[in-house]
Amino acid sequence: MNNAVQYTLSAPEPASHRFVVRIDIPQPDAAGQCLTLPAWIPGSYLVRDFARHVGKVRASSGEQVVNVSKTDKSSWRCEPVRGPLVVEYDVYAWDLSVRGAHLDATHGFCNGANVFLAVNGQENAPLLVQLNEPGNTQGWRVATTLPRDDVAPWGFGLYRAADYDELLDHPIEMGDFDVVDCEVVGVPHRVVLTGRHHCNSERLAMDVAKICAEQVGLFGELPAMPEYLFLTRVLGEGYGGLEHRSSTALMCSRKQLPGSEPTVSKSYRQFLGLVSHEYFHLWNVKRIKPAAFTPYELAAESYTELLWVFEGITSYYDDLALVRSGTISFADYLTLLGETISRVLSVPSHRWQTLAESSFDAWTKFYKPTPDSPNSIVSYYAKGALVALLLDLTLRERTVGKTSLDDVMRAMWQRYGATGRGVPEDGFENMAESVSGLDLGDFFERYIRTTAELDLERALSTVGVRLRDATGGPQAMIGLALKRGSTRIATIERDSPAEQAGLAPGDLLIALADLRVTQNSLSEILAPLVPGKPISAHVFRDDELLTLEITPKAAAARAFKVTPVEDATAAQTAARKSWLASNVAST
Ligand code: ZN
Repeated sequence: MNNAVQYTLSAPEPASHRFVVRIDIPQPDAAGQCLTLPAWIPGSYLVRDFARHVGKVRASSGEQVVNVSKTDKSSWRCEPVRGPLVVEYDVYAWDLSVRGAHLDATHGFCNGANVFLAVNGQENAPLLVQLNEPGNTQGWRVATTLPRDDVAPWGFGLYRAADYDELLDHPIEMGDFDVVDCEVVGVPHRVVLTGRHHCNSERLAMDVAKICAEQVGLFGELPAMPEYLFLTRVLGEGYGGLEHRSSTALMCSRKQLPGSEPTVSKSYRQFLGLVSHEYFHLWNVKRIKPAAFTPYELAAESYTELLWVFEGITSYYDDLALVRSGTISFADYLTLLGETISRVLSVPSHRWQTLAESSFDAWTKFYKPTPDSPNSIVSYYAKGALVALLLDLTLRERTVGKTSLDDVMRAMWQRYGATGRGVPEDGFENMAESVSGLDLGDFFERYIRTTAELDLERALSTVGVRLRDATGGPQAMIGLALKRGSTRIATIERDSPAEQAGLAPGDLLIALADLRVTQNSLSEILAPLVPGKPISAHVFRDDELLTLEITPKAAAARAFKVTPVEDATAAQTAARKSWLASNVAST
């Protein structure tokens, strides 16, 4: 490793929120070394331009100062030198998110994509990473799955990576954190908790181990790794996760961690769902990944119509693994399913955007919401999860229980994940057909490339589950939503009475039906309205008062509940049992 590029990450003054990075390049490009920072981070499909947090880049070679020029928004070029090159810069780290870098006197966190410039031309070579203990701190440790070189477990010191891609895929947490240990198929799994908390560690370890074992059982094996880390930042409020090859970065709220109560609370269930989701990504997207991401091109957007496969199917299995592993009850699972169905069907977007379009346009639509989003952007997570459910139940029904989505995912792992081959755009659909022996052309055409209604009611009946309209409240609708904490209109539904009346996002709603609108009074005003009978609306647009007339219409179903059929047939009961069966026993 004598000629290996070495990165050194320091933080002499954590209170400045700046990491200091030094890159030692023993054999720089003789024509002038170029360096680049990724514009986006895998798993989060938005160009974030991390280079905007990079301060002045300086370079030297021995005693000689080397000129550095910027060649585009994320790239630098050093003038040619004869000997080894040293590049130094600082990175402002004050983005408390799983995608960013964050540093203060209580902890430090970063993703490689935020802090480490790629040394162009040497991205495929092994490299070293020296992690220095930040200044003015005591008792801090390091949590990362970067392979250790010359360093004790949890220690500051020398780590390494096989290439730049690997360097980006092991986030680094440093601080005075707690560690909850468990084991899955003989491999240590650890939940690292940073931030104040009162977590019942024993309970958390037991549930995490059960859920992970369920996912391993589905795929048949855990990809080779010495350990797995859940790097968890505990906050007053917060929720999110980003998947990596042998770890995940999570954010959760304090109340989402388990206390002493024997049952799984609603908020703890959310956290377990997040754990389950990110862990499923170990296979689905970290290893089974689109050809468009093989390798990742991080300078600009990478397009694929398959995000619904990677996020939707993962979202289907995150909750399913909770019930299959016995962590939550079937009734709780059905509650979650009802919520997902309501989330998708209660907004008009599912009638306007297909899953293929939502996947392809994630960069400019899903990740860049506008007031028109409820009309135009369908979630490839939530609708993708429903199509995964529909596909699973369809496969089970049409093959009389011989084939399920589990079999397809296992085959995807064997063909693509385990071999490192990228999934072509038609790879998932072809695999589902070849594993099941079914012609699924119509299925995928309808549900992925058109906005046809999802036939959930019929599919769920095959496992003895009933889908019903549980919409309460006003029978008339006008089709607007207010911004939280104000009476300003956030969104207007397409083809709704509000749109037809001329209301617009941003209008300040003063009165409706001659009654003053407050944040809390809107639903009370709407409740007695009669479809077809016009009412008045008063709004300010900018500083001009507008008086409009709205004709409410009959409200469509927007809340759904799924419940078990009480007098299920033997076939329905058997199909449900097979659907919910744990995969753990079979491994
Ligand atoms: Zn995900």
